[in-house]
Amino acid sequence: MKFADLHLHTQFSDGTFTPEELAGHGSRLGFAALALTDHDTVEGCARMAAACTAAGIEFIPGAELTAEYNDTELHILGYFLDTHNPKLLAEIAKFQAVRQNRIREMVARINEMGVPLEADTVFALANCKSPGRPHVARAMVKAGLVSHLDEAFERFLKKNRPAWVPKKKVSALEAIELVHQAGGLAVMAHPGLNRTDEIIPALVNVGLDGIECFHTKHSTATSERYLEIAEKFNLLITGGSDCHGFSKGKPLIGGIKLPYEHVEKMKQVVAARQSSPVTRL
Ligand code: AMP
Ligand code: ZN
Ligand code: FE
Ligand code: FE
Repeated sequence: MKFADLHLHTQFSDGTFTPEELAGHGSRLGFAALALTDHDTVEGCARMAAACTAAGIEFIPGAELTAEYNDTELHILGYFLDTHNPKLLAEIAKFQAVRQNRIREMVARINEMGVPLEADTVFALANCKSPGRPHVARAMVKAGLVSHLDEAFERFLKKNRPAWVPKKKVSALEAIELVHQAGGLAVMAHPGLNRTDEIIPALVNVGLDGIECFHTKHSTATSERYLEIAEKFNLLITGGSDCHGFSKGKPLIGGIKLPYEHVEKMKQVVAARQSSPVTRL
C-alpha cells in the first residue's frame, strides 16, 4: 500500500525542519509521495524536490495560502503549482511583505506591554521570507520571556490578544483563481478547524477542487463528515499531517497516511486540465 502526506511545513515558513530533514523522515516512514505546503511561499519547493528525488519519493509542489470568506480566515492549499508562475510569485511577495511588517507591529505591541523583545531577534530566528506568530513565540521562549509556546499565544499572540495583528488575506475566490492560473489544484485546508462548512458550496461554485478530509486535528467523525461532503460535491479527497516539526517528542509527519489512490486522482485532474484547460462560465 502506497501512502502520501500532502500537508507539510519547513523552515521556509513556520516549520522547524529543513526540506532535507523532512524528506528524510518521509523516507524513513515509507511515504511514496510528499507535498510541501509552506504558508504563503513556494520557496522551499526546489530543495524539497531535490531531497525527495534523492530519497525516491514523488514530490508535489504546493503552498498554503491565507484566505478569507465573509471575514473568516481559511487556508487554501495549492497542489502541482508552477512555482515560477509570475502572478503567483507577485502575490506571494505581497503576502510576505505584510507578514514581515506584521512581525514589527506584533513586537511593538509586546514592547508596549513592558516585555523586551526585538524584531531583529525574531527575524534572525525565523530566517525566512514568510515569518509568522510561531517565530515570535519561539523567540520569546528562547529569550526567557515566556516559559513555553502556548504561553506566548495565550498571553500575546492569539486572535484578540493584545499583540495579535491580522495578516494579508486574499478572498477564497482569489486564492482558488491564483492556484488555477498557476496550473494547480485548489483544496480547502483542515475544514474541521475553521467550522465554515456553510461556505463549501460557494467555493465549489468558484472551482474548489478538493477538501482536506484527513488532518492531524480531525477526529474520525470529522474526517467522515468531510468524506461525505467530498462525495456530495464530487471533490478530490486530500490529507496530511500539517507537520511543523516535532510534536510530543516525535515528528508529526507519519500520523496521517493518505492512500496514494487520491494522489492518482489529483494527477488525473491536472492532466485533463492540461490537455483541455477549464473555461468557467
Ligand atoms: P500565522 O500564520 O503567523 O498567523 O501563525 C499561524 C501558525 O501559528 C499556525 O500555522 C500554527 O503553526 C501556529 N499556531 C497557532 N496557534 C498556536 C498555538 N496555540 N501554539 C503554537 N502554535 C500555534
Ligand atoms: Zn503553519
Ligand atoms: Fe493551515
Ligand atoms: Fe499549516
